[in-house]
Amino acid sequence: MSRILIVSADDGVADEIRQSLPDERYDLVRSTDVDGGFEHLDSGDERCDLVLYDQRLSDDKDKAPERGLERYVDRASTMDTPLVVLSTAKHSAEWVPWLNAGATDHLPIEPINPEVLAAKVAVLLRIKERLDQLRAEAVIDELTGVHNRRYLDEQLGARLGEAARYDMPFSIGLLDIDHFKNVNDAHGHLAGDRILQETAGIIRKQMRKEDVLVRYGGEEFAVMLPQTDRLGSVILGERIREAIAEHSFDVDGKTLRVTASVGVASYPLDNCTEPEDLVAIADKRLYQAKDAGRNQSVFE
Ligand code: GH3
Ligand code: MG
Ligand code: MG
Repeated sequence: MSRILIVSADDGVADEIRQSLPDERYDLVRSTDVDGGFEHLDSGDERCDLVLYDQRLSDDKDKAPERGLERYVDRASTMDTPLVVLSTAKHSAEWVPWLNAGATDHLPIEPINPEVLAAKVAVLLRIKERLDQLRAEAVIDELTGVHNRRYLDEQLGARLGEAARYDMPFSIGLLDIDHFKNVNDAHGHLAGDRILQETAGIIRKQMRKEDVLVRYGGEEFAVMLPQTDRLGSVILGERIREAIAEHSFDVDGKTLRVTASVGVASYPLDNCTEPEDLVAIADKRLYQAKDAGRNQSVFE
């Protein structure tokens, strides 16, 4: 169900909107002031798909009232969320500053035309749904169905920042399948693909639900481990490595075995706060694991 946020101090307007939009399709929430509205948008659980924003709320005489919208369109969390300005303006030229400030559309409220409102809401939510779908697909690896590197790049900084803010540990593990080129050479690329898919499943089975698995590159995976210190990541990394080494991959009736090497870096123990530094440390350790003979993990 799509969630619509009404930001208006006018009970009459809020009621008219409620009556124009079918209950069973939309979840309507309301805020009577602008700041409360933004709070709604900021708290993750209150995610909204569309905002109906009463322009009379930002009737600040000293500055252009539409400037209030800038706070909304500039934030990453809401820049894809359409916003319709509800306005008393009579002439279409009066809408222009609002559209320029980031509103997606406008709707006259004196009076509200329920059919126009319902139609605009339906169109904008259709686009929003498609955008959400494309955005979700853009961070998924097609072959394995786990997240891709773009997702890691988007998320790592925020998650590491969160760990620093709340004084919690955070670890990242990089895993690379050993001699995978030989697997492809001996059994074909399709067999290699199937092993990659199955490996993703094996790794995922060992993880907690807060952990995030990413296909980092060809035969490399990364795991983000929130609230996990070095000891926790040693245990998990070894469990994953063993699970892969012990697994019998069935490729066209033949049983195949592969091993993997793992490098792990942990915040705060490894003394870095930049995401790329943490990845570089994990990567260096992964290559130490390779140099030391493969099928092993390096943590320090
Ligand atoms: P190492 O133990 O040093 O990691 O050896 P390796 O052979 O795994 O490493 P190398 O980097 O030389 O080769 C990686 C191979 O992974 C090359 C490529 O054939 C294979 N590979 C990468 N992406 C894919 C993929 O999407 N599908 C398949 N089937 N193979 C892939
Ligand atoms: Mg590799
Ligand atoms: Mg490899």
